[in-house]
Amino acid sequence: MTDIAVIGGGIAGLTAAIYAVRAGKQVTVIEKDCLGGQIIYSPMVENYPGIPRMSGEIFAEHLQEQAEELGASIEYGEVVEIEKEEDHFVIRYEEEIRSKAVILALGAAHRKLGLEGEEDLTGCGVSYCAVCDGAFYEGMDVAIVGGGNTALQDALFLSNTCSSVTVIHRRNEFRGDDRLVKQLEKRHNVHYLMSHLVSGLNQTDGEFSGITVRNLQTGKEEQLPVKGLFVAVGQSPQTKAFAALAQTDKAGYLVAGENCESSTPGIFIAGDCRTKEIRQLTTAAADGAVAALAACSYIG
Ligand code: NAP
Repeated sequence: MTDIAVIGGGIAGLTAAIYAVRAGKQVTVIEKDCLGGQIIYSPMVENYPGIPRMSGEIFAEHLQEQAEELGASIEYGEVVEIEKEEDHFVIRYEEEIRSKAVILALGAAHRKLGLEGEEDLTGCGVSYCAVCDGAFYEGMDVAIVGGGNTALQDALFLSNTCSSVTVIHRRNEFRGDDRLVKQLEKRHNVHYLMSHLVSGLNQTDGEFSGITVRNLQTGKEEQLPVKGLFVAVGQSPQTKAFAALAQTDKAGYLVAGENCESSTPGIFIAGDCRTKEIRQLTTAAADGAVAALAACSYIG
């Protein structure tokens, strides 16, 4: 039996592991995909206190090393069920472990546009990760949809190698930081379609051949023959499998206050999957620390 099982090895989960092992607890982190979570796709992290600039991937690597060196055990697998049994929890993935407390640090996944053909064209014209797929579009015209920091950062990243980048945003002002908007304005190969939506993914002979955009002010549609569309319209939580274990809100986020305690004693919620206003690296790390210390005092 381990003391604390941390489900999810993103920033919140790995920070929780660091705090809990340093408090003398046995910790197992279970990650279904890549350690580090969404931040590994960020080309540059510039807003983590004490670290002026670092790629998201390197940041995640450091965190993993730190957690493992301190004694956290990391396993890979997709947790499909967590069951309460007397004074502990049974966590089922490809294996099964028992744990006195559980920290759910499940993060969130890329939100989709919900357009026809989106799934089939993913990886063949439609991408959710500029850092991963940008190189395939070198010298080509691409579009990116979204107005948050991810879209702005990705547009900057793509404008380094693509012939042109068209940023499509549904409102007339960006949600992301002004600093990024100002950097983008200096790029001559970046164009904007504000107050526009992507209304269709075009295909010719079953292959991606561009997008249709709709002007939300005039209702007029036009086709853009771009070679790739990058979707950066935010994220949604992956909490469905755990909805019976802890209360969720309408959007699916697990309900917990700043103390990270869920509606079930012994289950703690950390990071982007928790109901909260601000989802940032710093707030994910803060949640990890709070959830770990709360779990330690629950165990006693
Ligand atoms: P976000 O801030 O939630 O922005 C999502 C954007 O997509 C918004 O502009 C939204 O429009 C738009 N959108 C949502 N659904 C849409 C739809 N169906 N069709 C068209 N547009 C749609 O998401 P994010 O940019 O991924 O950022 C997530 C969090 O990570 C934020 O807190 C962000 O600051 C943070 N982040 C930080 C860094 C960093 O360097 N530190 C980098 C990336 C992200 P509206 O504006 O109209 O709602």
